[in-house]
Amino acid sequence: MTSAQPITLLRPTRPATDGQPAIPGHRVELQLLTTLKCNLKCTYCSLGVGEVLGSQQHVDYSLEQLAAFVDTQLKGYETYVTFYGGEPTLNRPYMEEVIARFPNFRYQLQTNGTLLDGLPDAVLARMSNFLISIDGGEGTTDGYRGRGIYRQVMKNLAAIRPKTSGSITARMTWSHPEISFEEIDHLTEVFDYLYFQFVADIGAYPAEGMAKRKEILARLIAKFFRHSDRLYPIIPIMGMVRNKVMPSKAQELYQGKTQCRASTHILNVMPDGRIFPCPDLLYLPEMQQGSVVDNWLRASPLQPDPAMPCSTCDAYAFCRGNCMKNLYLAYVKKDETYRREVVEPICELVKFMGEEIDRHQPQEWFARASLPVRKLITDCEVYEYVEIMP
Ligand code: SF4
Ligand code: SF4
Repeated sequence: MTSAQPITLLRPTRPATDGQPAIPGHRVELQLLTTLKCNLKCTYCSLGVGEVLGSQQHVDYSLEQLAAFVDTQLKGYETYVTFYGGEPTLNRPYMEEVIARFPNFRYQLQTNGTLLDGLPDAVLARMSNFLISIDGGEGTTDGYRGRGIYRQVMKNLAAIRPKTSGSITARMTWSHPEISFEEIDHLTEVFDYLYFQFVADIGAYPAEGMAKRKEILARLIAKFFRHSDRLYPIIPIMGMVRNKVMPSKAQELYQGKTQCRASTHILNVMPDGRIFPCPDLLYLPEMQQGSVVDNWLRASPLQPDPAMPCSTCDAYAFCRGNCMKNLYLAYVKKDETYRREVVEPICELVKFMGEEIDRHQPQEWFARASLPVRKLITDCEVYEYVEIMP
């Protein structure tokens, strides 16, 4: 990204409210950043922007302040927590304290997977979903994360399997065009689900790379539609198919807005207690949405804007504005290089996916699908934990 700015610690005063609840609907996700430290150095890490990574190593607010915030701002909401970082398992005591303090919340852990074997069984057993970052096969993952990381993650995955009834989802950043169909396909065999996201790096989408990515996407989508009694568990494809065969579901959980929840009901709580809608925009003071320490909350400032092209886009019905951060940087902050080199190529890939899905007549496929497959397409719990769109 080109718009990096140093992180600021200024606290705005509580903004006036317009009488509307800060969080629409009935559910809220608290994404608690347990630390901004990480034990790996992934080359594309988004927290590297604005010098966020490593800037806060301890949680500075107390559990009492968090409980007071929940009581005041989130009363009556179904609440689920994602432990996030940095690498959240580096602050294991905080995770244990939160789970003990809020035993009725649902929990997810977003992790690089390298320290999973150090977590107590009681913590593992409480997770409804593990979101484990991985980049593809062994060579690709070790190339980005360091030698031996892929094997270490696979070993840990096998170790935690018997200790959890939660789902285990791979979170793959599709970072370069050489990542093969076979690498991606293999992840669907090792994990319960695969969620992939197109990397947001300048220079990542040269023309020949776009062609390669499209070829792989076409193969993945063809494989998805090959069976109607067995699910090919790739979340962005499942989610797009859901949005096409059951458009009301594309709106229900997110008030019709972006499906990553950044415009509606995800609160990223930094270790110092400040709250932001998107974990990639922690460096922008205008994005602050609240504070656990000062106990205030306003609606997400990361909203659709007339400058964004979505309202006239053919893909909007199933895409719903994909990544608001990308759109904000490109069309509101007017970062032209980012628009040309990141946002437009990703939109082109999203549209391509929609067209490929349509070629396989998703409505007819859904009509033939077995009940368990239909249930997962419409209501898979993992939709609540990931951005759905790539
Ligand atoms: S493809 Fe791009 S322009 Fe179209 S709706 Fe999605 S984010 Fe908006
Ligand atoms: S998909 Fe949503 S949460 Fe993720 S970077 Fe984009 S706006 Fe932020």
